[in-house]
Amino acid sequence: MQEQLSQNLAPVLPASERYDAIVIGAGLGGLLAAAHLVQRNKHVLVLERLNHSGGRFTAKTFQGVQVSTGAVHMVPFGSSGVLAHMLSRLRVPYRFFDADVFGSFHVHGKQHRVRGLLGVSRFLGPRQFGWFLRLGWLMFFRPLPADERDLPFDRWLERHINVKRNPQLVAFFERISRFALSLELHQVSTAEVIQTTKNMFRFGAPAIVDGGCGALSKRLEQHVIKQGGEILHSCEVRQILQEEGKVSGVRFLQKTSGEERTVYAPLVVSDIGPRATDALLENRRITQAALLKELKNPAMEAPLRGEPTIREAVGLKVHVLSDVSLIPHRGIMYCLDTKRIAGIVQPTNSDPSLAPPGKHLLITHQVIQSHNVEEEKALALADLRMLFGETFEKHCRVLTMGTYRGEWPVNRLSQGEDVSPKTHVQGLYLVGDAVKPSGYLMVEGVAQSVNHFLDLLDSLDRERARTRRSHMAVRGSKLNALRWLYKAPGNSGRY
Ligand SMILES: Cc1cc2nc3c(=O)[nH]c(=O)nc-3n(C[C@H](O)[C@H](O)[C@H](O)COP(=O)(O)OP(=O)(O)OC[C@H]3O[C@@H](n4cnc5c(N)ncnc54)[C@H](O)[C@@H]3O)c2cc1C
Repeated sequence: MQEQLSQNLAPVLPASERYDAIVIGAGLGGLLAAAHLVQRNKHVLVLERLNHSGGRFTAKTFQGVQVSTGAVHMVPFGSSGVLAHMLSRLRVPYRFFDADVFGSFHVHGKQHRVRGLLGVSRFLGPRQFGWFLRLGWLMFFRPLPADERDLPFDRWLERHINVKRNPQLVAFFERISRFALSLELHQVSTAEVIQTTKNMFRFGAPAIVDGGCGALSKRLEQHVIKQGGEILHSCEVRQILQEEGKVSGVRFLQKTSGEERTVYAPLVVSDIGPRATDALLENRRITQAALLKELKNPAMEAPLRGEPTIREAVGLKVHVLSDVSLIPHRGIMYCLDTKRIAGIVQPTNSDPSLAPPGKHLLITHQVIQSHNVEEEKALALADLRMLFGETFEKHCRVLTMGTYRGEWPVNRLSQGEDVSPKTHVQGLYLVGDAVKPSGYLMVEGVAQSVNHFLDLLDSLDRERARTRRSHMAVRGSKLNALRWLYKAPGNSGRY
């Protein structure tokens, strides 16, 4: 009887099963949250179902190439962004190579290298460039009227320009949205596009991570462990436990031994998104196979088994190994005249170690526009042939082609549709790319989700709440927005 009691009651459990905080998922969001909690002297356990950390922000070595599990080794706001600030605050070593250009634009069969914003006149021509300037004024110098805030961005464009007479200008916005947000223009609100663009301009140029995203996740993992945190791989959380509306711990499966264990903590941070977190609260599991089956059903955006509609951003990515350099800069090449590929990066321009010596890694990205994945892949290949012609056949090899959707999407929630880190269960918080505040995309949004979570923790501690300023108050510089006119602001001159 006594033995049975001690199994059920947290206070008499062995100390090894009690923690100050449990983090579900060792993706970037989970690792960043854990790093902050250990910095606050919390006894932290991170549980990860895979046999490695990093989630969609790591890489595997394949034929000597750093093939990423998600991110294209790129950080949207570069060395001045939110993630960079956070890593410095945590004292995790990192180096980001900022882009040296605004980008290049493949239009009418030619790649135009553009240093700053004004350079887009080269491929837009004087008339479309005039409309480009007008849109810039409407977006950044005029308060956005209330009736335009929620307008899908394609409708906003139609309201202000003649879209038929400005095809390259429309393609310019469309391809940037597809590459950066994995969304079509009709899927994102005008307010969100403007807020995100303002942040991009204020923080600075995007950057490639030194060593790739795998190296950064590894460093974060080591940092958490060095500071006393525990990370258990191949451990899948099966249930989040609660008592009287308060979180009390989790039950998980150790996949290698098949053993189930329960661990207790008054604080649980979930990095697996709201859909999977809600399921674990109800002792259910969401599997990738079941989700993809649901998505194949005709009504693609219908609620899953009565759950609220979750609209993730989906994409297709191709890793290409090339004998020759195809992109002459460290930024993004946007493809305005392709059928599917929205943009390509060549991260080996910043860090050659991401591919074998003398070779180049190229990563393409596109939004999946139909249910026919094979056709989407074929269109990507056709685009590559169109973009690089014979050079592609002679010098390039496709290493991998992969789709990102269901429980492994580009963004767990589409930009602008994110949820709060606070849940209805006391002590249970969400971090990650379903919790991105408005205007913060991809891993910058993940870092801001952790800042938001820290603010919520501080608000529970009166002394901290009184003395500390918000963690989210990381600001870019207005001067950067000016610099963008003629160059990409960042550290590219240094490296
Ligand atoms: C194709 C693609 C391209 C991208 N490009 C970029 C880019 O260039 N730049 C950029 O900034 N971002 C990019 N992103 C987005 C970026 O990768 C993600 O925003 C970020 O990695 C999300 O991190 P996260 O911690 O929120 O989630 P995740 O990385 O998904 O982490 C969640 C972790 O939880 C684990 N987990 C799930 N369920 C359980 C469970 N029950 N128990 C235990 N563990 C569990 C998962 O295995 C995973 O490791 C891209 C994403 C994709 C897919």
